[in-house]
Amino acid sequence: MKEKQNLLNLNQKALDAFFKELGEKSFRSKQLMKWIYKDHVFDFDKMLNLSKNLRETLKDIACIDFPTIVSKNHALDGVVKWIIDMGNENNIETVYIPEKDRGTLCISSQVGCALACTFCSTGYQGFNRNLSTAEIMAQVLIANLHLKASGRHVSNVVFMGMGEPMLNEEAVYNVCDLLLDDWAFGLSRRKVTISSSGVVPALERMSERVPVSLAISLHAATDDLRDELVPINKKYPIKELMRACKVYLNAGTQERHILFEYVMLKGVNDSANHAQQLARLLKNMSAKVNLIPFNSFAESDYQVSSVKTIEAFQNILFSQGIRTMTRRTRGEDVDAACGQLAGKVLDKTKRSDARRN
Ligand code: SAH
Ligand code: SF4
Repeated sequence: MKEKQNLLNLNQKALDAFFKELGEKSFRSKQLMKWIYKDHVFDFDKMLNLSKNLRETLKDIACIDFPTIVSKNHALDGVVKWIIDMGNENNIETVYIPEKDRGTLCISSQVGCALACTFCSTGYQGFNRNLSTAEIMAQVLIANLHLKASGRHVSNVVFMGMGEPMLNEEAVYNVCDLLLDDWAFGLSRRKVTISSSGVVPALERMSERVPVSLAISLHAATDDLRDELVPINKKYPIKELMRACKVYLNAGTQERHILFEYVMLKGVNDSANHAQQLARLLKNMSAKVNLIPFNSFAESDYQVSSVKTIEAFQNILFSQGIRTMTRRTRGEDVDAACGQLAGKVLDKTKRSDARRN
């Protein structure tokens, strides 16, 4: 028997094609999306504006399948972390960060990450596989379902969980389509952010394909240092990355800017000189800088820069006219802060073995 189609894998265009093949009108897509994403009804029998015949057909050939939740942890500051089972002993993590006027969900796009940035816990886990559209989409649905009782919901989504979203392009684009789609989540493009460590060809495609916000994990302004911290820099050095950033900034019809993330590592990338280099690199660019105090994890020898050093770094950027903010660490007590997401990854790259030896 043919495997059932999980409808969480389909954006509106793919749903249109799916219903067309069944001889149905395209407005069925909108009806179905409303049931799933707005009303949270996942039982075809309850979708009463679909004909009885269509409901029976859907039961035969389609499903709305969620991965299983392993655990849900609440941090003291209101952050919620879900650990989700992706099969074959792989777990991924999703984090909700409530603020006064919004609630941001940090979602994962891969089981682990193959890029091995030296300061990142996910990088230490190695890589198993890409998540499907449904597996990424389900993270947002799961969060909204759980938050409903407390009167909260996901208002912003950032691809800053486990994995490099630009190495899982198709699924990530489909998810962006659904997040922006008025019949699904209806978020504005400013409220959906892809964060990438700099997969240049993918960033150029992304610029045209999905009109969402972009964050670049820069962490160093010179190739020597960035090669060390973000190894993909050896393949796509800073000059090429900046070219891709310009493609992004010039694409689309609305004004765009880029958020540059910079993890503050004591004695590594946090001197006044480093700040000057960063300011020079970003001058004349529509850029904002987000300084992230390093969050430690067991395998790492790095230390976080002092508050004073971070302030001094930030002041140098300010003095050069660069908009800069420092990210407040959230959810640390349940290991939910940036870079602490380890999940459970059956590593196929064997990198984690090599590191342990
Ligand atoms: N792979 C993507 C998205 C996931 S990482 C990327 O690298 O952009 C999300 C952000 O957390 C990135 O900016 C990453 O550099 C940062 N990060 C990783 N490890 C960290 C740590 N230990 N402390 C603070 N930030 C970290
Ligand atoms: Fe992967 Fe991003 Fe972590 Fe680097 S920082 S290892 S790209 S998840």
